[in-house]
Amino acid sequence: MPRLVMKFGGTSVADVERIRNVARHVKREVEAGQEVAVVVSAMAGKTDELVAWCKEAGSHFDNAEYDAIVASGEHVTAGLLALVLKDIGLEARSWQGWQIPLTTDDAHGSARISGIDGSRLIEGLKQGGFQGLHKPTNRVTTLGRGGSDTSAVALSAAIHADRCDIYTDVDGVYTTDPRVVPKARRLNRVSFEEMLEMASLGAKVLQVRSVEVAMLHKVKLCVRSSFDDPARPKPGTLICDEEDIVEQQVVTGIAFSRDEAQITLREVADKPGVAAAIFVPLAEANINVDMIIQVVSDDTTTTDITFTVAAAEFDRAKLILEERREKIGYSKLNGAEDVVKISAIGIGMRSHSGVAARAFKALAEKGINIRAITTSEIKFSMLIDEPYTELAVRTLHTLYGLDAKG
Ligand code: ADP
Ligand code: ASP
Ligand code: MG
Repeated sequence: MPRLVMKFGGTSVADVERIRNVARHVKREVEAGQEVAVVVSAMAGKTDELVAWCKEAGSHFDNAEYDAIVASGEHVTAGLLALVLKDIGLEARSWQGWQIPLTTDDAHGSARISGIDGSRLIEGLKQGGFQGLHKPTNRVTTLGRGGSDTSAVALSAAIHADRCDIYTDVDGVYTTDPRVVPKARRLNRVSFEEMLEMASLGAKVLQVRSVEVAMLHKVKLCVRSSFDDPARPKPGTLICDEEDIVEQQVVTGIAFSRDEAQITLREVADKPGVAAAIFVPLAEANINVDMIIQVVSDDTTTTDITFTVAAAEFDRAKLILEERREKIGYSKLNGAEDVVKISAIGIGMRSHSGVAARAFKALAEKGINIRAITTSEIKFSMLIDEPYTELAVRTLHTLYGLDAKG
């Protein structure tokens, strides 16, 4: 019997009526002869609410308790879906992560899956969320925001599903966020590598880790809309190998991330060991540094170093550097949080030159200043001022011929 994993995100299960609609999608697949396991997120806004309560509850933050609390959102939707499925004549039961069990490491709040024993689930095939179990401590973990995507893909691999359908509030992966660019176009297919870059550069339609797991375990992955009529489903976007893409563009998509902060250290001594003095302590504190620019100054004795960190790490990074000011030897630390990283992604960049240069020119013509640039084989990113986000994304979208016709 063909086996299918269906995942429904927060807006798709926002209330009981929408959960009934989800049940209709499930029913269609069951009636088509599929064995179905469903992964559900918490109702829209529920996880945010739970996270806010954790913060409100006191300064004594405890990651394990955080997980115990935020995992509850998914318990509710899994149970409700089971009830609604029974109501329409399907056999169903809910499964929590630890009951499967889906085991993880102990990195509470952003745990990584260490294993899934699919056997019990295969026996009684049917539902859960973004939660797992750290076996040695017997505690509930969660996989980080958006983690239900990863649960669904990993579960697909564990139960040898023929396909994993990620149902969300858009009908596929678009050339850029369709909420920002109305002319964004749905892609019929996108390669794993491009999807991985798009997700890690800000397109939150899939959690980055879910794409990695799909790539590693060769899970056939689709993004579709739960708002389509359950009786007339549309195919959505297939995430596939590069070889399976017929129509190749130089640039496939534009992503952007507001989750960035810039730090500049002024007048740093221009001598060996300075970069290490700055970046080793940040690495030891688990702070990821992304773009780095070192300016060579005229007097050759000092230089400015600019780099970016995730917005959530900004204060911590600043503190670490301020504590080491004398040791590193810089005159001033400047920070900016109102910045955004805009990226263009496409496997076609491997074989075309001058792709990024066209973007620099186009942004300059719109008066947009570029604060930092990074490039790699299939993408380039630019840091700009936040108020220009939409203008920059739309400019690049048009520049690379991605606008929908008509
Ligand atoms: P869910 O709650 O179903 O997991 P998410 O909010 O995590 O849904 O992801 C879906 C959202 O991702 C869409 O509503 C859309 O605004 C956003 N998004 C960003 N970039 C893209 C893209 N390139 N294609 C499709 N959606 C995108
Ligand atoms: N409910 C979790 C979140 O909002 C997990 C998910 O939806 O994927 O991040
Ligand atoms: Mg999501």
